[in-house]
Order: sequence, then structure tokens, then C-alpha cells
Amino acid sequence: DPVLLWFRQDLRLSDQAALVAAMKEGPVIPVYILDDAAPKGWKIGDAQRWWLHHSLASLAQDLKERGSRLILRRGDSAEELERLTRETGAHRVHALSHFEPWWRNAQRAVARKLDLELHDGGLLLPPDRLKTGGGTPYRIYTPFFRALMEHMPPASPTPAPSRIDGPAKWPVSEMLSDWGLLPTHPNWASGFGAEWTPGEAGAVERLSDFRDEVGDYDSRRNLPSCEGTSRLSPHLHFGEVSPARIWHQISGANGDATTFLKELIWRDYAHVQIWQMPEYGSKNARDDFDRMPWRDLRDAGVDFAAWKQGLTGYPIVDAGMRQLWTTGWMHNRVRMIAASFLIKHLLIDWRHGARWFWDTLVDADYANNSVNWQWVAGSGVDANIFSRIMAPLVQSPKFDAADYIRRWVPELAQLDDEAIHDPDSYDARPSGYPQKCVGHKEARERALAAYRSIKR
Ligand code: FAD
Repeated sequence: DPVLLWFRQDLRLSDQAALVAAMKEGPVIPVYILDDAAPKGWKIGDAQRWWLHHSLASLAQDLKERGSRLILRRGDSAEELERLTRETGAHRVHALSHFEPWWRNAQRAVARKLDLELHDGGLLLPPDRLKTGGGTPYRIYTPFFRALMEHMPPASPTPAPSRIDGPAKWPVSEMLSDWGLLPTHPNWASGFGAEWTPGEAGAVERLSDFRDEVGDYDSRRNLPSCEGTSRLSPHLHFGEVSPARIWHQISGANGDATTFLKELIWRDYAHVQIWQMPEYGSKNARDDFDRMPWRDLRDAGVDFAAWKQGLTGYPIVDAGMRQLWTTGWMHNRVRMIAASFLIKHLLIDWRHGARWFWDTLVDADYANNSVNWQWVAGSGVDANIFSRIMAPLVQSPKFDAADYIRRWVPELAQLDDEAIHDPDSYDARPSGYPQKCVGHKEARERALAAYRSIKR
């Protein structure tokens, strides 16, 4: 009998434990099911739909070259898988485990109807593997990191098979082009193609390019003007390359990879948090933040729109928000600055910012996005302190963002390295660039007063 291989955020053929297990049991029927209903508010965002389209096309091609196919279906995962077992006589479903709350629900629903076998491989270590001395999962990053390191390196990655046998008769597949995953009018993703190559081959290439540069990661990762980070995040989100493979390739590179691997472990940490607290994306982990007097969007709507469009009058924030819109990605340092600006300078609830990122990031990830937004807000379990308010005009020169601003805010391109961070103070603001939507000092005082009110 054939077996079903259920792809989700693991769109790869190498180091794919579910594929290895499925191939041992019989002819394999690879399936991807698009379900926009189950995740409710967290259905795949617009930027990621662009990515998904290309990644599925790439996976289908990789399967075809191995004598296999990718069957596409839409609807409820459990119902579609059950339908496929009826159509094909498949006796079992193999898949990698995923930890987003809607995937866990879907896994439970599938397991109630069918013989589902889940495998590890989306993370460096499955979330339930590490416990504190008190027997609970880790909430704080540093001890989590130390405990995880005891289990590293992960098992060596397995190569992609050269042939994958399929059933004598294939079930029908929907057409990818019918799914409407790509934007039409206006085509806001026109800048994505130059930046990204979705799919396993693109991921592997990105990884091998970065391998040569990892020695500079420590010194360059905070400088948005450089390409100092791996840009593997969307590939990792879609599972086009396994974290274990990244680990092995990077730790064997020339130069010290420690800082990079520490960042990669943040991804595991974030997944442990959403596994523990499935509502992390919509609920403050510290409930005193439920009392925070966030500004109502009816009053703050103009500021929120300026933030989204990169028109706040703070060059570093605007550069980041425009990079996000144009490429679907933003440098980590600038994500922190832009998120902090929304939360503290504009006093807008972090959840509005997280939603915007969800729709615009090609690497939007429920765990990483939620944990990082709550980290910046100070509402998370392991978080920055709210009253430590980042000053964008200090951060910008500190991290040498002049060239980055030139690239993304062309109105300011003519300004020199000093004035470009804060044109107003140099009386150098071109008429086409907006005035600051709020002053730093007044914004800071408003934020601190709001914070004091929840501490009372
Ligand atoms: P690198 O520096 O090369 O790091 C390698 C990998 O490690 C990344 O691809 C990522 O998978 C992981 N990683 C690195 N930093 C973090 C971190 N702080 N938290 C968790 N994992 C990390 N990352 C996402 O993948 N998806 C998101 O939706 C997301 N939202 C964010 C929202 C905010 C407000 C902030 C401050 C950060 C967010 N991040 C998110 C984390 C981080 O900014 C990105 O992972 C990183 O910028 C991706 O670029 P890179 O692949 O070049 O990173």
C-alpha cells in the first residue's frame, strides 16, 4: 500500500525524516494542503503567499526529477488526508511535527481519523526534550541555551534520495496556478524576485554563500548597511533547509560560528514558548500589560499608517519599514528599532505591529514574530524592560545606518553621513520628507507615564 507524506513548513527533500520513514514503507504520495480556515487570524500572510507559490513550484520540480509528484489540495487537513487515503488506499501518513497551535490541532484531528506518524526535524531539538531542574520547560533564554548546547550537535543530516517511488495510480492534484497565491494588481511583490530564490536549491545556495562569511557575523550582524546576516529566515520558516543541516555546515566553516548558532537557537527558544503558551501571538505573557493604556487606533490611525508606509520622519524607522514593504524582509536591528518605535514612541499595542509584520514579512513565523514583539514590548516572559526606551536617533549613527537609509529613503540620499540620521537637527530636511510624527522627548515621557500607570 502507498503512504502519504504530508508537507507543511518542511518543503525539502534532504534531511526530511518523514520522507525517509515513508519510503521504507511503500510507494510515497507527497501532499500539500492549503488550509486558510484552521489558522483563523493567522492564515498565511500575503508576502508569504508569494513565497509559498514559488517554494511549492520548486518542490514539485524536485519531486518530478525523482520520478514523483506533489499532490495539491485545499481544505481541512484531516478531511483532505482522509479523502486521499480513501482514493489511494494509503495506510499511513508521515509528517514532521509543527508547533503552531493550529498545526497541533490539525495533528490531533488527523491522528483521530488516521494512522499519523510524526517525526522531528523542524527544530534543533524537539520542545519537550528540555526541562529545568523543577521539571518545567525553560522560560528564560540563557539557561535554555546552555541546556540545549548539551545536546548539540544535532544528528548529521541525511541527503535527498535520488529516486522516490510513487503509486501505480496517482490521485488528482489541483493546479498551483489556480490558488491565486501571487499578487496581481498592484504587484507589490515585484521587488521580491531580485532578492529571493524560494525553494530548497535557493536555500542551500544561500547557506553555502553565508558559510564563507560567518566569521564576520559577530562584527557585522548589527550593521544594517552590510549584508552581514544569513537571510536564511524565510527558508527556515518554510523548512527548505533543516536547522541541523545549517548547524553542521556552519560549525564546520572557517571562523567562529558561536554567535550565529546562538541566534539560531533563539528560533528553538521561541518555539518552546509558543508550545507552552499557544496564545503568545495574541496575549501578553505578563498580564500587567493587559492594563496598558495603548492609544486607540481611531486616534492613532494616522501615526499607524505613517509607520506602515515608512513616513514617520525618523529615517532609520522609515528605511526599515520601506525595506520590509519592498523586499518582504527587514534587518534584525532595524526590526527592533521599528517595533520599539511603534510600541513606545507611538504607544500602539504591539499586536497591531505584529499583524502588519505577519502580512508583509516573507519570514513571518508565529513563534519568532510573537516572541520578538513581546520581547521588545516588555510583555514577554524573557523580555526587554519597557522603561528602557530605544532612541532611534542614537541607534542610527551607532550602527552606521547612513548607507542603509540612503538606499531605502531616496529623499535623503543627498545628505551627509551625519545629517542623514536626523535631518531636522541639521536643518537639512528636504521638503519631500515628512516631519517627525512625534518628538522623542515627549514620546518617551508619554510611554513612561503609561508604563507607570500599569505598575501602580
Ligand atoms: P541571522 O542573523 O542570519 O540568524 C539566523 C537564523 O536564526 C534566522 O534566520 C532565524 O531563523 C534565527 N534567528 C535569528 N535571530 C532571531 C531572533 N531574534 N528570534 C528568533 N529567531 C532568530 N524572525 C523570523 O524568522 N520570523 C519573524 O516573523 C520574525 N519577526 C520578528 C519581529 C521583531 C519585532 C523582531 C525584533 C525580530 C523578529 N524576527 C523574526 C527575528 C529576526 O529579526 C529574524 O529572524 C532575522 O532578522 C532574520 O534574518 P537572518 O536570517 O539574516 O538572521
